[in-house]
Amino acid sequence: MYPYRTISIIPRLPESIGRLRELAYNLWYSWNDQAMELFRFINPRLWEEVYHNPVQFLLRANEDELNNAAENKQFTNNYRKVMDSFDHYMQEKTWYDNCKTPESTQLIAYFSAEFGVHESHPTYSGGLGLLAGDHCKAASDLGLPFVGVGLLYKQGYFTQLIDSDGNQKPDYPFQNFSEMPITPVIDETGRELIVDVKLPGRRVYARIWKMLVGRVCILFLDADLTANRLEDRALTGQLYGGDKETRISQEILLGRAGVRALRAMGLKPTVWHINEGHAAFLLIERVRELAEEQGLPLGPALEAVRADSIFTTHTPVPAGHDVFTFEMVDRYYSHLYERMGLTREQLLELAKDLPEGGFNMTLLALRFCGHCNGVSRLHGEVSRAMFHHLYQGIPVEEVPISHITNGIHTLTWLAPELRELFNTYFDHDWEKKIANSATWAEVDAIPDKDFWQVHTALKAKALDFARKKLIEQRTRNQETFDRVKEVENYLTPNTLTIGFARRFATYKRANLIFSNKDQLLKLLNNPNGPVQLIFAGKAHPADTAGQELIKQINDLAAEEQFRGKIIFLENYDINVARCLVQGVDVWLNTPRRPMEASGTSGMKAALNGVLNCSILDGWWPEAYNGENGFSIGADWDFNDEEAQDKYDYNSLLTVLNQVIIPAFYDRQPDGTPVKWIQKMKQSIKTIAPRFSTERMVTEYTEKFYLSAMQRNSIFTADNYQMCQEMYKFKQFLINNWHNVQIINVQASEAETMPLGDELFIQATVRLKQIPREYIQVEIAYGEKCKDGLFRIHTLPLTAVDSCSSGDHIYEGSVALPQGNYGYTVRVRPNSPYFTHHFELPLVCWAPSF
Ligand SMILES: *Cc1c(COP(=O)(O)O)cnc(C)c1O
Repeated sequence: MYPYRTISIIPRLPESIGRLRELAYNLWYSWNDQAMELFRFINPRLWEEVYHNPVQFLLRANEDELNNAAENKQFTNNYRKVMDSFDHYMQEKTWYDNCKTPESTQLIAYFSAEFGVHESHPTYSGGLGLLAGDHCKAASDLGLPFVGVGLLYKQGYFTQLIDSDGNQKPDYPFQNFSEMPITPVIDETGRELIVDVKLPGRRVYARIWKMLVGRVCILFLDADLTANRLEDRALTGQLYGGDKETRISQEILLGRAGVRALRAMGLKPTVWHINEGHAAFLLIERVRELAEEQGLPLGPALEAVRADSIFTTHTPVPAGHDVFTFEMVDRYYSHLYERMGLTREQLLELAKDLPEGGFNMTLLALRFCGHCNGVSRLHGEVSRAMFHHLYQGIPVEEVPISHITNGIHTLTWLAPELRELFNTYFDHDWEKKIANSATWAEVDAIPDKDFWQVHTALKAKALDFARKKLIEQRTRNQETFDRVKEVENYLTPNTLTIGFARRFATYKRANLIFSNKDQLLKLLNNPNGPVQLIFAGKAHPADTAGQELIKQINDLAAEEQFRGKIIFLENYDINVARCLVQGVDVWLNTPRRPMEASGTSGMKAALNGVLNCSILDGWWPEAYNGENGFSIGADWDFNDEEAQDKYDYNSLLTVLNQVIIPAFYDRQPDGTPVKWIQKMKQSIKTIAPRFSTERMVTEYTEKFYLSAMQRNSIFTADNYQMCQEMYKFKQFLINNWHNVQIINVQASEAETMPLGDELFIQATVRLKQIPREYIQVEIAYGEKCKDGLFRIHTLPLTAVDSCSSGDHIYEGSVALPQGNYGYTVRVRPNSPYFTHHFELPLVCWAPSF
């Protein structure tokens, strides 16, 4: 029997604290501990039971408790303070108010398959989701007109349980959406707004839920409706669950129904940001709209989409890039080919993966988006090399993929105890100036003793948390009384504690430190001072190698000699992450370089004075300055994984034994480790401002969002006139580029030249029917390498004359800096409306003479 309907009977909130409900429905609480403290105060046990979900908390709290709180002076005082601070936050002027351009009120839509905002809303698997959540929070702080679009997974990713043999057991509890901090979007008649998409043989309907994150909102699509077939209701069941059919259906829901949800709500984004390839079908949906609603043919439609679309790629790991077979794409899209005014071949061409021959979502996004980026300087380089094959003749460093390094949302990850300490020593408005280095310089003003005391308290909290979690796990597994009881003696407060918590993808090498058991034993019992390790992390349920690693660590932890010194915590999530990054001493990161695109957990640790000990991969080469943490491994590429693992392992042990352990245990008579504290302060000072989402979203705004808004106005004006022109311009160049030739280059034949003298160059260029203003002739110079030039600089040459043959003479001169350089002349397309020199990847190089 199914219930006819469900209804929640909820306790009455006393009027004087009635706005708690409003607070519960705005994820602003997730970075304001004092707001969460209000709930904890009312009933601390219930607060833990509902896993810090304030909506569920208010549904379950009893009226007496609520009335008691309403009459408690301390509570009502705190309540007023929190509500004032919330109101202030929602109304105050923001950074974005100061970058008004004619277009700046336009809406930015941000599509992502995962959003990690708070543990009370498990729609994330790892770093990608956390980044999306932190991006939204910073968009709110900075005042951007911004809306997130994602899917609402009935079972989230999965809950990780560890059984008594140390195996990972996934659990898939159903989320009750009416008990989550989200509300359904309704239309003007009060009914739930429903959007739909066609999938092979049927329509799939989705409801839209809305989550408030400060000033911005995130929309979540939910297919669990009775209007859908049973299998389709499960489409939004699990994040990264199911097979390829599930995946493509989910991505069509996200990309196509996501666009429709915005339309149905009357929202009109002019900037479209695709966070990883999962959402790239939105590009095709927009082409369809332009074809059916504006009558634009494919070419100009692509220009329209390219003008205001942004793509962020997040990993060099092949499994992170979805590839579908052409046969699948046909089944899901063939009914649209004609309506979109394109042929099957044209669509497949847009995402064709050359070697594999599949439909690659990353390539689709790269070919469609005017702005593309990786998520750290190194990842930018790696991505340019990875996709170089798409840009024939273009130097790898000029492949149109730039980088914007990831950051974290500072107030979400900073321990409240440290926030309070900073309130005392920093400027009163420091929270509004997070990306400013000067803000953080003030950590030096904090007395070492106070600083260390806070760290010690946070560490005690983390160790307590770890023990409690382990006791819970063993109790649930019905282990013996002794096994449960002995956990109370695990982990010593004064011992150097190393944390490692991340997804158990194999490239992250969670087991690197366990490579040699004898060495491990020596390390943990180092005569200069002992070490203890806390591990946590989920392996994807289909990743057997990752699960094997978890089992290995649990087996080790169970050995007598390691008991209580190696701990594995189950169910790594935001709650576990928060506790660990705030409370251990060292944060270990051992990916196989260069597979870690950025990594963000280390930024969270650094912000809390937890020192990073990391391979120079992802964000770390940009951050590490020799004083603010520790680097291990090498900053070059290996082509032999075994050799790399060995090298990195030896480096890790050396740094731990010879640098980290002595430094940590070097104490003043009163027990404070002065030199260690210096490093902790360095870590906060140098890393907090730069690796914040405050800096990151500012950078996205200045480099991409404002430019995309402006391009949107230009490209849509006068009935998409510019799209037509740009399309014609590109077609003309593509069709005539074979005529471009550099006939002759003349330059000094001297092999050396005094610094400061100018090198004069003259080139004869054949363009045939291509007008001079369509192209740029330039000198390109740089350092020599085996494939040509790198660290290329360019300088335009000027047309001085045309020959009777119709060829053109270009001239210019350059004062080269000191060093040994190669130089050449090249011709490339040129338009003031390009986002990148090689938006149209055509180039003609001077032949070497
Ligand atoms: C920050 C975070 C991540 C990402 O950390 P990495 O350094 O990229 O591994 C993953 N999961 C959770 C729960 C996090 O909080």
